Amino acid sequence: MSKDRVELDWQSIGFDYIETACNVRCYYRNGAWGELEVDKSAEISIPLGASCLHYGQEAFEGLKAFEGVDGRVRVFRADDHYERLCESAEAILMPIIPKELFDDAIALLLEKNRAYIPPYQSGATLYLRPMLIGMTPNVVVKPAQDFTFVVYATPVGPYFRSGIRPCRMLMMRDYDRVAPRGTGHCKVGGNYASGFMAEHIAKSEGYASAIFLDPLTKTYIEECGAANFFAIKGNRYITPKSQSILPSITNKSLMTLARELGLEVEERPVPIGELVDFDEVGACGTGAVITPIAEIKDYDTGHTYKYGNGEEIGAISRKLYDLLQAIQYGRVADKYGWTLSIFN
Ligand SMILES: *Cc1c(COP(=O)(O)O)cnc(C)c1O
Repeated sequence: MSKDRVELDWQSIGFDYIETACNVRCYYRNGAWGELEVDKSAEISIPLGASCLHYGQEAFEGLKAFEGVDGRVRVFRADDHYERLCESAEAILMPIIPKELFDDAIALLLEKNRAYIPPYQSGATLYLRPMLIGMTPNVVVKPAQDFTFVVYATPVGPYFRSGIRPCRMLMMRDYDRVAPRGTGHCKVGGNYASGFMAEHIAKSEGYASAIFLDPLTKTYIEECGAANFFAIKGNRYITPKSQSILPSITNKSLMTLARELGLEVEERPVPIGELVDFDEVGACGTGAVITPIAEIKDYDTGHTYKYGNGEEIGAISRKLYDLLQAIQYGRVADKYGWTLSIFN
């Protein structure tokens, strides 16, 4: 397939949107889904009063397609992303997308954008962004009746261009990402702008991201920006459990792999007091798989927690990272059935 590939400097592309050949769309009108359509426009026409614009009635997903060592293209855990999109949709009164429609959309999108799938070993991947948005114009606050499902693809660069680098995180109490019983467990548009200020403060203080605590008591670790938190302590993989955390599919995969490596997995509330005990700490998500954390600063007390030598990823995080990437790139057998091979 390499001869048909578009020419892009795969190593130096970042995370900005790069237009591809097309995207795929399907419209839900009068209570029914229409036909899947291919659209060459990178724009979308939305009524001024649409519920997505005013009331945040929108849900999305983020998954990746990898060209493997054998030339096959694998989509990672598409079924899990589908399930999560349905859960998000239901939580904010949007219709669920039929499984067949979702699967067809991903397959069609990849077929049409085959030339944009980055080559194996470039470190770049094709990011897929399904989204479901409320389209009905309403002046009063109420859910839409009509919805648009769009999936677009865009190549994204390697997260760590020159080796995995640990980052520093800022833990704050003054900002919440979501409400205790709100929509934190869903990937819905309305959850993210509320975290912008905390992220802005963290970045302007020189940190990679903000660590959000549980919004009710501010005593438990919840999320690292838009990534899950995990820690290694001896033989244990520890990750927070809470209704206001978005259940990361990367985290779920790492838990399975941790068990495979003989670790015990604890998914439970993680009090701030435990930060002093951890051997390794990291953030995880589709974007970077694992971002090791070398330092967490408590903004309010000034206390700093340090992990590892500040330069390298910890040994267990490294093993988990390598194993997950090996599955994504087809270097080891996919015994969990996580990857969907699109082109053979
Ligand atoms: C998407 C997301 C994650 C990571 O989930 P993955 O399925 O691993 O990509 C974590 N936290 C938040 C808030 C997210 O939006």
